[in-house]
This record gives sequence, structure tokens and C-alpha cells, in this order.
Amino acid sequence: MKLFHDVSSVRNFTQKRKNEQKIGLVPTMGALHPGHLALLEASQKDNDQTICSIYVNPTQFNNPDDLKKYPRTLEGDLELLEKIGCDAVFCPTDQIMYPPDQPQLLHLDFGYLNEILEGQHRPGHFDGVGLVVTKLLNIVQPHRAYFGQKDLQQLTIIRQLVREFFIPVEITSVPIVREASGLALSSRNQRLSPEEKETAIQLYQTLLFAQKQYKAGTDLSTITQQARNRLNQDSGIQLEYFEAVRVHDFQLLEERTENQPIAFCVAAYVGDVRLIDNVLIN
Ligand code: AMP
Repeated sequence: MKLFHDVSSVRNFTQKRKNEQKIGLVPTMGALHPGHLALLEASQKDNDQTICSIYVNPTQFNNPDDLKKYPRTLEGDLELLEKIGCDAVFCPTDQIMYPPDQPQLLHLDFGYLNEILEGQHRPGHFDGVGLVVTKLLNIVQPHRAYFGQKDLQQLTIIRQLVREFFIPVEITSVPIVREASGLALSSRNQRLSPEEKETAIQLYQTLLFAQKQYKAGTDLSTITQQARNRLNQDSGIQLEYFEAVRVHDFQLLEERTENQPIAFCVAAYVGDVRLIDNVLIN
């Protein structure tokens, strides 16, 4: 497995192979778990070469404490990637991604997507995600890039980015991988105590409740209100939002829309760990 730290070496790796082989990129922030492995597996299935990037991108953290506490387990991550037969890993430093001697002037504004859900509750988050994903796609220049449905709104902004900037890459999404309890896997789960982990299961339980209600024909605003009430009743959970969205453009929904994929999305703090999750319907 090749390990790259700088722009030219990883770009050379792709450029040398690009005409004969398909290249897949799996962007991550490390602390790898089976959710990341599902993305890597999808890339390995579709492509001849899979590159995993590991970079904890400071510009997407609106909370400095969250950035400081973000788990970093590079050595173990590299061992795991070697074991699963990943072809190359790109681990840049902040100096490479945001050269301190060059002005960084650009910002990305995703319009209404910035105003709702993750955009609303994490100001500047999608600007940072957009910047780092644009940088990674331009550096590595893969044929395909893989993102998890766990970060459903992120997937929407990335598709928007690729479409508006005509970035020559195919974006593939991968379903959420969960623990047996239903808790969506996340690097942040490492920071939950056993009791908090137990509490966090409520998020998925409530998403399932909403899904069931939707299938039973219940009015959408009733469902979201009942779901919020359920979560607010648990003193271990500080709910940020529970909403229904139309999947293709992430418009918030107040009323049922038949024959269109919708999703219920939730974000909440359990202890001091912020968790997000969602379920798709239709
Ligand atoms: P992260 O390292 O948290 O930035 O995640 C890197 C990629 O893995 C993103 O595209 C996430 O959506 C995806 N991902 C994270 N957790 C999961 C999960 N439980 N199931 C599927 N994909 C995931």
C-alpha cells in the first residue's frame, strides 16, 4: 500500500494509471470503522485502484472543542487499510491543504442548503466540506468518489458542487452501516460512555417510529412533532432537529409527498457528543 503526504505524489499515482485503470477515492477523517469500510469495499468493487484519504479538515469544524476531541488513530487506520487491500492512502497535513504562505480567499455558499438542518446548526460547516472535497477531487482526480448516506445533506451539497463546477467525477453513495443496536456507526461514538451509547439508540428507534407512522399514512407534521416529543422526553438527549426532507434537493417537507423519496433526519447531543442519523422512505 502506497502512502502519500503531498499533492504531486498522489497526483502522479493517479495520472500514471488513469488511462488504463479506474480510480476510486474514499475521503475520510480517519478513526475508521465498518461504515468507512463499506465505502472502501464499494470502491474496490467498482475500480482498479482505491485511494483512501485521511484528513481531519479544520475548516469544517464550527466548534473548536469538537475539532480538538476528534479521534485520531492513524496507525491503526493504516494497518486496517493495508489489511483490506487498499491501494493507496493520502494523508496530507494542514500546511499542504491550506498553505499558510498563500492567502485562502475562497468561500463556498450553498444557498438554502446552508440555512437548514446541518447548515443552520453548524455555521460554516458546508463551506469547509465544500472546500476540502473540491481540493481532494482536484488533487487526486479520481474517476469515482464515495460518500455515505449517513451524511445525507453533505451528499446533496457534494452532488451540487460537482454539478455546478462540472467536476469530472462520478459520485456514489453508500447506505448507512449500523451497530446491532441500530446506532449508526460514527467515529464520534468512541466518545460515548456505555450509558450514553444506550441513550443514543433512541435516535434510530425514533427514526423507525417515524418511518412506521409514515407508512401507516399519518400526517407528516404530526409525525415530526411526535418524534420531537419522544426525543425531548429523554433527559439524556438534547435535540437539535427532527425534520422530513425531499431527498433529491433537501427541501424541508411539511406535508406528505407521494412517490418521491423522502428522509427523516435527526441531530442531537448525547452528553457532549453531537450525533446525526436519518432513514430513507420510498
Ligand atoms: P467521516 O470520516 O466521518 O468524515 O466519514 C467519511 C465518509 O464515511 C463520509 O462519506 C461518511 O458519510 C461515511 N460514513 C461515516 N459513517 C458511516 C456509516 N455509519 N455508514 C456509512 N457511511 C458512513
